[in-house]
Amino acid sequence: MSPVNFEQAPILLFWETTKACLLACRHCRAEAIAEGVPGQLTTEEGMRLIDDLRTFTPRFPVIIFTGGDPFMRADLYELAAHARSYGMPIGFAPSVTPLLTREAARRMHEVGAKAVSISLDGADAKTHEGVRQVQGHFFKTEEAVRMLVDEGHTVQINTTVMRSNVEQLADIAALVAGWGANIWEVFFLIVVGRGSQLEELTPQENEDVAHFLFDASHYGFILRTVEGPWFRRVVAQRKGLDPLEDPAVVFDLGPLYHRLSARLRELLGEPGNSRAQSVGTRDGKGILFVSHDGEVYPAGFLPYRLGNVKTDDIVTLYRDSDLLRSIRSATFTGRCGECGYADACGGSRARAFATFGDALAEDPACAYQPVPILG
Ligand code: SF4
Repeated sequence: MSPVNFEQAPILLFWETTKACLLACRHCRAEAIAEGVPGQLTTEEGMRLIDDLRTFTPRFPVIIFTGGDPFMRADLYELAAHARSYGMPIGFAPSVTPLLTREAARRMHEVGAKAVSISLDGADAKTHEGVRQVQGHFFKTEEAVRMLVDEGHTVQINTTVMRSNVEQLADIAALVAGWGANIWEVFFLIVVGRGSQLEELTPQENEDVAHFLFDASHYGFILRTVEGPWFRRVVAQRKGLDPLEDPAVVFDLGPLYHRLSARLRELLGEPGNSRAQSVGTRDGKGILFVSHDGEVYPAGFLPYRLGNVKTDDIVTLYRDSDLLRSIRSATFTGRCGECGYADACGGSRARAFATFGDALAEDPACAYQPVPILG
């Protein structure tokens, strides 16, 4: 199979169809609210956006209908059907609210959803609901995941790693496996919006978590990360390790890794084969984000404005942006500029921008110290 060419088209296009949502989660990028806000793309503008996406070649991106809560848009299925009429792959990222009914699950299936993602931010009600701010939401989330699995959907569970839930990651992995989800996508916090009130992990803790996630990828579900691309560096390092060697010793991992990996074994037993996903996408390389009002960004957590779909051609914005070209060619500074894993990993461009105001700077959350390449 030839490698995916990210120069011409993203593989995932996240469309924040609305900011409206019945939840108000602490780390939400959109700082969600109960109603749509002025400037939200109309049905006609949304249809036109989908029409414009047809000119992405050699393949259409997967459109992820996100929010806010996409179910807060009355025209959601009309937009989804329009995309499907062109053969575009689609997915949904709904909030767990009373709108996520069995009928809604069936309609998503009928319209041709490739996957549905649901957020889970704790292994128990107290932790998850501390983030989601709705009593009873943990059990509603379990019900929603089981119902979607029952309806035959490919279900992805999204978890944002924070200080308040990091010790529960092995228990969350066990829930992902036990509830029958297909994919576990782990987000590493970027300090933005309500997320700024939460504490990020240290680089060493991120390293411990990334190695733990590699261990967790051996239990049947696909595992990938968002804004934690050094996971791909860890996957490469771990796959190159002699099976008789102890990763904790070789990579000098900390107590967090020991606690999480021991708990994982206790809960899930002997590991199978790894299903860690290591496609080298990053913000602006294979990923593109359209906000509720049509603004185009390299990713939802990277507020570097590229243009607006109401006035600009989205294909040109993606292909011709100098910043995105540099991101795609792994032209970075700092440690990411010297790193042998720059193409496969490349660091979180959103975190570099949030920290240094420079989307090409190094990712400060990565613990790796590149070894200089001797000429
Ligand atoms: S230094 Fe940068 S490119 Fe290298 S592994 Fe860390 S984040 Fe990735």
